[in-house]
Amino acid sequence: MVPEALVQDIEEQTVEDIRTGRVAVREQIEGPSGQRLWDNIDGSWTKPLPAEQAPLFLRKLVYRCDACHEASNIKGAIPEHIRQVLENVKTHQRARIKAELVGRETIQVCTGCKTAFPSRRQQGVRHLERVRAMGPAHANAKEVLMARFSLGPPQGAKQ
Ligand SMILES: [Zn+2]
Ligand SMILES: [Zn+2]
Repeated sequence: MVPEALVQDIEEQTVEDIRTGRVAVREQIEGPSGQRLWDNIDGSWTKPLPAEQAPLFLRKLVYRCDACHEASNIKGAIPEHIRQVLENVKTHQRARIKAELVGRETIQVCTGCKTAFPSRRQQGVRHLERVRAMGPAHANAKEVLMARFSLGPPQGAKQ
């Protein structure tokens, strides 16, 4: 049995509902043994869903950044994410890792975002590289609307 409210929620979900965030997200439904679906956002199988719910879940849509794994049900969240990533990349172009003495310990601090790292490892340097590397991927990033669930993992899709 599918709860009435849930059927309505998912069946009546339109692109507009997703854009406005009107539809509640309730994908973690447990039921009697049933069908598992592939969660395209988490990259994993769901818990078994009651069989009659699967078709409804297959209709759920989600916004996604096509340059990384960022996803959201809220309109505007992905363009905002892309904007922030590019902003962050810009701040980090001229950032460097600076040694700072805190008490008796030396830590490394990123001058771009003030994140602190233990001094021993190369974490600070790797942080800079990682942030900067997001730049090229996000330069032409766009928001895509995609199915949240499918019957199985995509074949040869870039993850
Ligand atoms: Zn992204
Ligand atoms: Zn930083």
